[in-house]
Amino acid sequence: MNETDCGKLIKAYELAARQHKDQRRKDTDASPYINHPIGLPAILWEIGGVRDADVLIAAVLHDTLEDTVDQGSDADRALQAEIVKEFGKEVLELVLAVTDDKSVEKQKRKLLQIQKAPTLSSKAKLIKLADKISNVTDVSNNPPSGWDLDRRIKYLSWAKAVVDAAQSDSIGLNARFQSVYTEGMEKLLKEQAVKI
Ligand code: ZN
Repeated sequence: MNETDCGKLIKAYELAARQHKDQRRKDTDASPYINHPIGLPAILWEIGGVRDADVLIAAVLHDTLEDTVDQGSDADRALQAEIVKEFGKEVLELVLAVTDDKSVEKQKRKLLQIQKAPTLSSKAKLIKLADKISNVTDVSNNPPSGWDLDRRIKYLSWAKAVVDAAQSDSIGLNARFQSVYTEGMEKLLKEQAVKI
């Protein structure tokens, strides 16, 4: 990370904040959505030891094309052009690699994530893993309102299937995913046992 990279990373935070400004997470506190993309480079930097600027920048932007514009719209094209102009083609490619095609039905999309995971580049896999670490932590401890235990348990299992399929070579991120998954699953299964 040189000075230019730092400047770009700061710009990426600004762009993500602009794009996600009106969004909230679905948890009961309705946390600001931006907490999630801000958390990803922190996971990558601190746990994965990632110092690749393109990966860190793409992590900040990873949900912008999926969640802040209609895919195929003028806004989508304009945002993609802006990402290329400000951060380069490789950052756009990384963001696109972890963006779901929302025209595909939801269950099929989830299956596609598992199938696509092994084909991702090693850099895209890092972002995918950090995203799943963040989401599994949230679904375990601060879930979307209205999600029952069954849905939360299913989410954790699916996230694990994606991470297992990805076979990322990041020892740190794999270990962290494994621990948040195991802790989360134990917690949810315990809650389920109490209910029964
Ligand atoms: Zn995400």
